[in-house]
Amino acid sequence: MHSPGDVQVEDRPDPEIIEPTDAVIKISATCICGSDLWPFRGVEPVDHLAMGHEYVGVVERIGDAVRNVKVGDFVVGSFVTSDNTCEICRAGYQSQCVHAAFVSVESGTQAERARIANADGTLVATPGRPDADLIPSLLAASDVLGTGWFAAVAAEAGPGKTVAVVGDGAVGLMGVLAAEQLGAERIIAMSRHADRQALAREYGATDIVEERGDEGVAKIKELTNGLGAHSVIEAVGTQESMMQAIRATRPGGHIGFVGVSHGVELPGQELFFSGVHLHGGPAPVRRFLPDLVQLIWDRKIDPGKVFDLTLPIERAAEGYRAMDERRAVKVLLTV
Ligand SMILES: [Zn+2]
Repeated sequence: MHSPGDVQVEDRPDPEIIEPTDAVIKISATCICGSDLWPFRGVEPVDHLAMGHEYVGVVERIGDAVRNVKVGDFVVGSFVTSDNTCEICRAGYQSQCVHAAFVSVESGTQAERARIANADGTLVATPGRPDADLIPSLLAASDVLGTGWFAAVAAEAGPGKTVAVVGDGAVGLMGVLAAEQLGAERIIAMSRHADRQALAREYGATDIVEERGDEGVAKIKELTNGLGAHSVIEAVGTQESMMQAIRATRPGGHIGFVGVSHGVELPGQELFFSGVHLHGGPAPVRRFLPDLVQLIWDRKIDPGKVFDLTLPIERAAEGYRAMDERRAVKVLLTV
């Protein structure tokens, strides 16, 4: 991305092994993230940045210290690399690893190849070469599914719980899928787009709320005997969505917030009296990856349906525009 709104596909040098813990992978498929739209819209600064942090592909080269993956393995990794051995990783917070490195900063995966640092603790090999129709779902596990899953876990979605989901982008939809898999009793998707509502229902939403802001909160209260939801997933990252999440949660309830915060300021006193649990941040996708890969491999979940536009990587700029204009939920780029 040369500057906001200006995406170009160009030749760059192939990535090399720099550290003995690195791997270079040949990317099979990659995608455009909702968070890539922040710089595209000029909300975050950008200057000739190599884009992309979601990826699946085949290991092409490994450094001398890599033990857990080998050349030829088909792998899925998270958008943050992690050693998966430090205390923070072992507690399940791999995205905050003491050796964490953002893939987007290191390499950029909207490309033919990428260098992945901390390969041993980051990459998860699939049981074999996946069938072509599984690749979108495995790619979803790299970020949006793992992020939606973390949000549902952080919100303590589970049996007997009513879960409300703020945000109908790919992560919100994956939050619906995760809440359903975790056994939530009732799942309320907040969306005003018919196609996204339909996918939310397919993934397990039992109710749809079209209202936003205070009206949306009132609607959630109406559906929950005036109490609010037990669990709320926040998957947008704006002031409005965050306050909607906090106000739609019952006292003692839990909010999993995974929308990257932009200009959010929480009013201390309202937070104090709300009595809610707030837990979020960059999702430790690596914690969930082995289980998610298995669920996809066994065809028990189909997260790949969030990709509603597929383009060859040469046409990446078109994909950015489609997502920016909300003509596409999520764009898969074939390499
Ligand atoms: Zn670590």
